[in-house]
Amino acid sequence: MAAEPIVVLEGATKSYGDFVALGGIDLSIAAGEFVTLLGPSGCGKTTTLRLIGGFETPDSGRVRIGGEDVTALPPYRRAVNTVFQDYALFPHMSVAQNVAYGLSVKANRVPRADRERRVQEALAMVGLSDKRDRRPGELSGGQRQRVAMARALVRKPKVLLLDEPLSALDVKLREAMQIELKHLHQQLGITFLMVTHDQAEALVLSDRVAVMKAGRIAQIGAPQELYDRPASPYVADFIGAANLIDGTLEGFDGEMAWVRFGDGSRLAGRAVRSGLVAGSRVTAGVRPERLKVGTGDEGLSATVVGQLFHGGVLRLETKSAASPRPIFVEVQRASAATSDALPPAGATIRLVPATPDDLLVYPEEAAP
Ligand code: ADP
Ligand code: MG
Repeated sequence: MAAEPIVVLEGATKSYGDFVALGGIDLSIAAGEFVTLLGPSGCGKTTTLRLIGGFETPDSGRVRIGGEDVTALPPYRRAVNTVFQDYALFPHMSVAQNVAYGLSVKANRVPRADRERRVQEALAMVGLSDKRDRRPGELSGGQRQRVAMARALVRKPKVLLLDEPLSALDVKLREAMQIELKHLHQQLGITFLMVTHDQAEALVLSDRVAVMKAGRIAQIGAPQELYDRPASPYVADFIGAANLIDGTLEGFDGEMAWVRFGDGSRLAGRAVRSGLVAGSRVTAGVRPERLKVGTGDEGLSATVVGQLFHGGVLRLETKSAASPRPIFVEVQRASAATSDALPPAGATIRLVPATPDDLLVYPEEAAP
């Protein structure tokens, strides 16, 4: 039997006046997991984290940590700690004093002798032992981020809550810190629950990602599952790149769906949901790297607008009568000559999914 999850949210709702920030969140996190809440700004990620951290109380629903109902308990009585988005460091205190502050909070007082040892351990974990006497203002952005991590870790929480921990850093540093964060998670063996609006970051770091939309979880799953089998056009669009093309369902046999598009073409795809009705409007989703330039007269007809150079891959931007949005095709560059082999701007081509499984067919979504 599976062990008791370390964090459980049961039907958690939260409104601010008339505004429903969380419309009912169910979430269950296993001990040692790295789970990420991903979604656009304002979808309720921070609010969810604050419910678990104890900085907010749900209007209805429960929060359980380590099997205990903590819904009514204050933050310091919960086995979790938070790294806040702005780090919230004290500018007049040294690095070591900032970290030690994590131990001085009410009900968590630690004997003086232990305190120094714990601070040293926490600073060593994040590689800042030699910066202990600096002030936050004398550190780089990445180092300040690590001080905030050390201050949260010094209390030895079972669960670390991280609110957009890397969003203040520039791209290069952010990628380096992502690797560090992943190593730290492996090394500590504790549970990480992170919030981000950066889908690439969520995919790289997490065991599971919960994609949020307007105060609800739209889908939760392993990164590869979300990428390969998004449950809705919303998730397909949010995770990775997706061409979303509306059409009409011509036929449906329970698994396969045949879609007629606005350019007159017809393609077979895989129905993501059962209960599709022939004649209804559907949205087909296909990843740019799962589209190919066809050699026959099958497929979406499109005109090449241009080639976009991304280093290891080339993207063809095309336009088609099937879609008001451009349709992108991504081609891995096998050699420096790959671009010569692709059709030039102005060429009329046919676009076909690599396999019917690569074209996912959804009921048309109401506009958000
Ligand atoms: P996210 O972290 O996903 O960007 P938040 O959880 O911070 O989103 O906020 C979700 C929504 O709830 C936002 O529209 C925000 O304006 C609103 N909200 C959050 N906290 C409060 C508050 N204390 N009072 C009023 N509205 C709030
Ligand atoms: Mg937020």
